Amino acid sequence: MNDLTTAQPKQTRPGNYFVANYPPFSFWNHEQLSEVQAALDRPPVAGNSLGMYVHIPFCRKRCHFCYFKVYTDQNAARVQQYIDAAVAELESYVLKPFIGGRLPEFIYFGGGTPSYLSVKQLENLTSRLKALLPWDAVKEVAFECEPGTLSEAKLEAIRDMGVTRLSLGVENFDDHILEINGRAHHSQEIARAYGWARSLGFDQINIDLIAGMVEETDANWVKCVERTIEMSPESVTIYQMEIPYNTTIYKEMKADGKLVAPVADWETKRGWVAYAFAELEKAGYTIASAYTAVKNPAHTKFLYRDRLWEGADLLPIGVASFGHINGVHFQNEHDIVPYLDQVSRGELPLWRALAPNAEERLIREMILQMKLGRLSRKYFQEKFGVDIAERFAAPLGQLAAEGFLVIDGDTIGYSRQGLLQVDTLLHDFFLPEHRDARYA
Ligand code: SF4
Repeated sequence: MNDLTTAQPKQTRPGNYFVANYPPFSFWNHEQLSEVQAALDRPPVAGNSLGMYVHIPFCRKRCHFCYFKVYTDQNAARVQQYIDAAVAELESYVLKPFIGGRLPEFIYFGGGTPSYLSVKQLENLTSRLKALLPWDAVKEVAFECEPGTLSEAKLEAIRDMGVTRLSLGVENFDDHILEINGRAHHSQEIARAYGWARSLGFDQINIDLIAGMVEETDANWVKCVERTIEMSPESVTIYQMEIPYNTTIYKEMKADGKLVAPVADWETKRGWVAYAFAELEKAGYTIASAYTAVKNPAHTKFLYRDRLWEGADLLPIGVASFGHINGVHFQNEHDIVPYLDQVSRGELPLWRALAPNAEERLIREMILQMKLGRLSRKYFQEKFGVDIAERFAAPLGQLAAEGFLVIDGDTIGYSRQGLLQVDTLLHDFFLPEHRDARYA
């Protein structure tokens, strides 16, 4: 047991706090790429669902806190070349045994900025993807948007291609804060895009906010929460600002010799999320995970998240995309030039992989599902033959003693304080060799 539960740094220092997968990405490697080929050649595990992630790496501007690989100022020919590569990539997967006759149950367009594409480019991409792997069984198509890239006609096209969950990267409603954090959009564009999306009848609109952008204040955060509640989206997602090493903010810190990021400390950011969750609850929302509140939990689902955290297969399309097939993790080539080169040679553009063992798979599902705020012991007993309350008695006991969780029969439930800092608490469940890993 390490001491992360009590030694969380107060100030925001550089690095990743968000745990997106397990084992950490720094353990994925080239040597295990042969495991991916073997996984693709095996039939699927009975009953496991299939999803597809499509990465669009283009943005109008690079946000100062962004740690993704994104490309700005790309011309139409480059975008078309990328679309052709994404289609070719899917084509090389569809006859592989892991598909096993399955059609995707969920699809996620992430980025970058998927809404950077024009209507024509979107129609071209999605019609060709559907021709290769039909969307007839799809229950959810999620699509990330940057408000300033949207027009009513583009939103109509996005709806008509089948998107059910439209996610607006609002982040903040204050023009000055948006500007100094390098966001490309303004508050007027948020209001306009939301109005169009609402009137076009999307099944689910999600608004993304970030607690702790540069120059965030209590007063502004209160306004952001008020404005969000007034807009009344089906889902609200709030992330706490982190400053990974490959961000513009970190580069500036390094140049100035600073160790602490110019954003609020962790306690303040947690306080802001706690305030937002409490206000959203007063407005009738339910807290559905460490980051999300939903208006109607019986209707508003997020299949991409839930299926992935239960170990579903995820087919990754596009540069730097992450996938998970038949128990093997992998990531595509993380730079666009080698990605396009490999696809043009008819090769799968794989970069690094890891085949977790049974214990690592158990830990992966357990820590990801902890982000929902509750675990079912029965689920893990049935799937992995393990009583997690016994297997992880020591870290669970310590977290319970600190007031972060309660074990009650079948359920292990996080308290609100536990949920608000769940990512820092997950490391306690890592195998010893993974605990000090840099999480990138
Ligand atoms: S819009 Fe998103 S992906 Fe693009 S630069 Fe900003 S944070 Fe990064």
